[in-house]
Amino acid sequence: MKRTVVGALLALTLTLGLAAQENPNRAALLAGLWMQNSAEYRALCLQAYRTAALDLDQRLALNGGSPVVREKVLVDGRPCWRERPMAVIMDLDETVIDNGGYQAFLYLSGQSFKPATWSAWLDYQRCEARARRSVPGALDFIRHAEARGVKVFYLSNRPSSGQESTASVLEQLGVSRPGPERLLLEDKPADAAAAERWELGESLTRSQGAKERRRIQVQLENAVVAYFGDDLADFVTYVKGSEPVADRYELVEQNRARWGTEWYVLPNPSYGSWSPGQTLPADPAAWIDDFGFGDSLR
Ligand SMILES: [Mg+2]
Repeated sequence: MKRTVVGALLALTLTLGLAAQENPNRAALLAGLWMQNSAEYRALCLQAYRTAALDLDQRLALNGGSPVVREKVLVDGRPCWRERPMAVIMDLDETVIDNGGYQAFLYLSGQSFKPATWSAWLDYQRCEARARRSVPGALDFIRHAEARGVKVFYLSNRPSSGQESTASVLEQLGVSRPGPERLLLEDKPADAAAAERWELGESLTRSQGAKERRRIQVQLENAVVAYFGDDLADFVTYVKGSEPVADRYELVEQNRARWGTEWYVLPNPSYGSWSPGQTLPADPAAWIDDFGFGDSLR
């Protein structure tokens, strides 16, 4: 009897140990806990959005309080005036919409990211009030911009099949419902006018990153004054995560003047193009730097 209980406990311990060892999201656990539990995460988000709102007010004041930008441009070699509405471009996931529930699901179920469970999460988010949460400060900023006549574009790599559910989530969160002209998702949209703009952007950028195509699409008709994202790819092209860290730092450095004045980044240690993936890196030494301290002790 005793042996049976000990055997069962051993089997359970081994099973639990194995389960913990094999959980592909183990590496993302601390990051997820930080986002859901730290006051600092919340404060950082509020800091980004407050700075952005103050900057936007300053831009509007410099433009005589108007959300329409008048610029002199050359058309057929002749100068003429062009008017474009002031706009901002925002990424959605972990910039406006909090998907911590999906990340928690991945950890608790021991599953890796899959398009099928992601789609199910998007549907759940549309239907369940407790799943609709926003990044701190995001909704206040959007309302602040829209109240002043500034257009808000959402640029996300959510699939276009999620157009309705995403628009509904934004509306239920309390901001104006975006149509396909303001909600630019990953692939060619079903809406004819939006598809035409998508193709124009595609022809202009060809092999460039998908988000860059959509950024240009918005820039053609709007004076974009601010960009928001939780990933370097929300701001610059050619970021796939495979670039060496030094190259990614260089991209940050090249754009030093834009951070906090035109580009506003939200914290996301859970996932993104920075990450070695949701699993722990096989070669941690390639990712971690002790500043030579270990060598100094030898
Ligand atoms: Mg994002």
